[in-house]
Amino acid sequence: MATNGCEGRLKMIEELTTNAEQIQDEVLGEILRRNAGTEYLRGYLHGQTEKQLFKKNVPMVTYEDLKPYIDRIANGETSDILLAEPITGFFLSSGTSGGQPKLMPVTAEVANKWELFRGLYESPAMKHFGDINQAGKRLELMFARPEIETPSGLKAASVSTSIYNECNFRANLPKLYTSPVETIFCPDPNQGLYCQLLFGLIQRDEVVKVGSVFASTVLRGIKFLENHWQELCYDIKTGRLSDWITDSGCRNAASLVMKPNPEQADLIETICNCKSWEGIIRKLWPKARYIWCICTGIMRQYTTELEFYCRGLPLVSDLYACSEAICGMNLEPLCKPCDISYTFLPNMAYFEFLPVKNERDGSIEMKSNNEDTELVDLVNVKAGQCYELVVTTCAGLYRYKVGDVLMVSGFYNNAPQFQFVERKNVILSVDQEKTSETDLFKAVTEAKALLDPLGFILTEYTSYVDTSSAPGHYVLFWEIKGKEGTHCKELDPKIMVECCSRMEESLHYTYKIYRKRNIIAALEIRVVKQGSFEALMDYYVSKGTSLSQYKKPSCIKSEEAVKILDSRVIGKYFSSKSPL
Ligand code: AMP
Repeated sequence: MATNGCEGRLKMIEELTTNAEQIQDEVLGEILRRNAGTEYLRGYLHGQTEKQLFKKNVPMVTYEDLKPYIDRIANGETSDILLAEPITGFFLSSGTSGGQPKLMPVTAEVANKWELFRGLYESPAMKHFGDINQAGKRLELMFARPEIETPSGLKAASVSTSIYNECNFRANLPKLYTSPVETIFCPDPNQGLYCQLLFGLIQRDEVVKVGSVFASTVLRGIKFLENHWQELCYDIKTGRLSDWITDSGCRNAASLVMKPNPEQADLIETICNCKSWEGIIRKLWPKARYIWCICTGIMRQYTTELEFYCRGLPLVSDLYACSEAICGMNLEPLCKPCDISYTFLPNMAYFEFLPVKNERDGSIEMKSNNEDTELVDLVNVKAGQCYELVVTTCAGLYRYKVGDVLMVSGFYNNAPQFQFVERKNVILSVDQEKTSETDLFKAVTEAKALLDPLGFILTEYTSYVDTSSAPGHYVLFWEIKGKEGTHCKELDPKIMVECCSRMEESLHYTYKIYRKRNIIAALEIRVVKQGSFEALMDYYVSKGTSLSQYKKPSCIKSEEAVKILDSRVIGKYFSSKSPL
């Protein structure tokens, strides 16, 4: 069922993957030719452009190392201290640095690469499902995130928000998508979501693809629908938008298309009224050919639930990319979520890989002699081996550690395919925010200071993400001891609620934005009785951890371990206000 445009793109993928080695050398050569004279690279290459010198002299870095340069650019210095091509703005990464979101330079070439990639990554799905651009519309849940203006006047926005702002995207929106632009940019995400579902339901016979970038957002949409379908049906029946939708953009957009449609409303009502919502997506959008969303990595936690709602429709996770670089795409859209691999595209950046080893307990740890470990080129990675991704891009990142750990699952032509293993150092994530052990420690330290004057000491803590209700939220287990015989029963609930709020205040920018927009629900502290963490340790030891090497996890992933603590909870407290 491939179409001409799609065939051309598939051919391009064949060529790119076949010539991976040569293309990688060309990409690096071009980056060095252009940028060897920048202040940053001059310090390592002295104006030279040889690959061997680059490999020998240019150090592996993290965002913290580049931050001084990026901050100087954001504050008004010319960008050629870091890269030769003028920068047009920044991408805001969902990772944080010192509590601030990371800024990644964007150039015209970066924008071109994204445009090319958007054409490419959908083509394997189009080969299977037909040209959905011709067949109908996409119901894609999209939410622009707030933009930041840097002191230099350059704008910083997430990758998706930047795409939603593009002229091309906006021009094609009415033809290809069910959501009007006003609903995407609505400042209140709940109003935006309501309207996007409404427009998707009104045009349900045209919808051929349902999804969002991340699985968590699709699930959030379904849960929201569970709570609002009666109201949505009423609006469709009467042709009137609910009064609580006060955003003028959304109201205007609705007034252009809404008219009373009792038949459609009745049909939707009958579908939503059924006892089980298994396969609801297919029932509501009968022409949908597949569900689109990333469901690997942190998003794995949502797959089982999502599969229930999309029963009968394939779940397609087709791209792997980050604000730093576009990486790869899934060439087998029909494979099971647990088997998804992304084939790297050698023209998107220069990719290198830092070998990492599998620890006995399944977690991944860097080799200790980090600096001595040689980085492996894209085409030389070994099947079955895990690596940390290191990128060099046309936008001023040189041997930059992205923080993702990947495992080589095979090769397509000469380009390796990777399974996403885990995000390094991230322990909690409900949506796209990334909370590290250090972020959590800092927040706990701030909050527990409230207990000290009252004669209580926090002796142990751990955490997990509770996604059993939507939106998900952070749960902290706290074991608290009373100084001088004070009993935990005497804990003042108001203080505990304050501890929850203090933790939220102390978490990073992205957490607070998401919390404010109800993408993350209120943080919860569960106080457990004395000895609970000993029981947790006994559990891990019974599973094979050596007692002498036992380290209490800052975050627990195993359901059994959560149950052990949950069965010992003596008090639950929630933050009562959203931070900021
Ligand atoms: P951001 O920089 O905010 O765009 O976030 C990019 C990060 O999201 C990546 O570094 C990954 O950790 C994660 N990510 C993106 N795509 C995928 C994917 N297909 N599977 C798993 N994680 C992903």
